[in-house]
Amino acid sequence: MRTRAVRDGTDWLITGTKTFITNGTTADVALVFARTGGPGHRGITAFLVPTDTPGLTRREIHGKLGLRGQATGELRLDEVRVPDAARLGPEGGGFRLALATLAKGRMSVAAGCVGIAQGCLDAAVGYAAQRTQFGKPIAGHQLVQQLLTAIAVDTAAARLLVWQVADLIDRDQPFATEASMAKLFASEAAVRAANNAVQVFGGYGYIDEYPVGKYLRDARVATLYEGTSQIQQLLIGRALTGVNAF
Ligand SMILES: Cc1cc2nc3c(=O)[nH]c(=O)nc-3n(C[C@H](O)[C@H](O)[C@H](O)COP(=O)(O)OP(=O)(O)OC[C@H]3O[C@@H](n4cnc5c(N)ncnc54)[C@H](O)[C@@H]3O)c2cc1C
Repeated sequence: MRTRAVRDGTDWLITGTKTFITNGTTADVALVFARTGGPGHRGITAFLVPTDTPGLTRREIHGKLGLRGQATGELRLDEVRVPDAARLGPEGGGFRLALATLAKGRMSVAAGCVGIAQGCLDAAVGYAAQRTQFGKPIAGHQLVQQLLTAIAVDTAAARLLVWQVADLIDRDQPFATEASMAKLFASEAAVRAANNAVQVFGGYGYIDEYPVGKYLRDARVATLYEGTSQIQQLLIGRALTGVNAF
């Protein structure tokens, strides 16, 4: 749902709902992007809203596929009154702020996905060496090696894309499109890697005795938050062509 903020004297009144907010039930302050003007980028303003402000309610989301150790909240803002001092940056400057924040967030999601993929590789290689079927370790079956190879290549490629973004940041160069590329590839690669790791583990991949089932559940959300894979593709496509296909 859209979040809107309207001026009321020297204050702002903010109304809206945001369903999935990481640590939303524990945070002391919420960073809220609200529409304060007409359509388009310049109509969005950022606010820092203390979560104990009257009108702001929140509840914990239960029943997630993965990330079960992390609190996810739903925040509802019903005419939440904040002073103009709660505005972060200029009026209408929220979109620019969001882009800068999201680009680094995408880089960190991508880096986390490299960690998941590497965990899948380590677990799958280790299991393939010790599990014996048809008289030899399953690592000696060509089709199992194919699965391991796919995980390794996905992991290495994702890592290099993340390092590319890190290098650009270190050199103070623009990195938003490269962060989208890294996030798109690494999140999809982590899901593929975890899925392939479950396959290497056979039935044991499907139960909690080994970690790869959890890796799959945890990786899945990475293609959804900080901009879905489709949104990353639209961002990259726009950067390539100059045409906005949103
Ligand atoms: C556990 C969890 C934690 C999260 N934490 C946060 C958080 O802390 N902060 C935060 O801001 N967000 C967070 N998110 C993400 C956020 O809540 C939304 O889930 C996310 O922005 C996607 O929006 P949506 O779920 O409404 O999907 P929708 O926007 O309804 O998308 C549904 C589908 O349509 C596609 N789609 C939508 N628009 C287009 C388009 N223009 N072109 C092509 N395809 C399109 C999407 O890619 C997707 O496949 C979190 C999500 C989860 C699951």
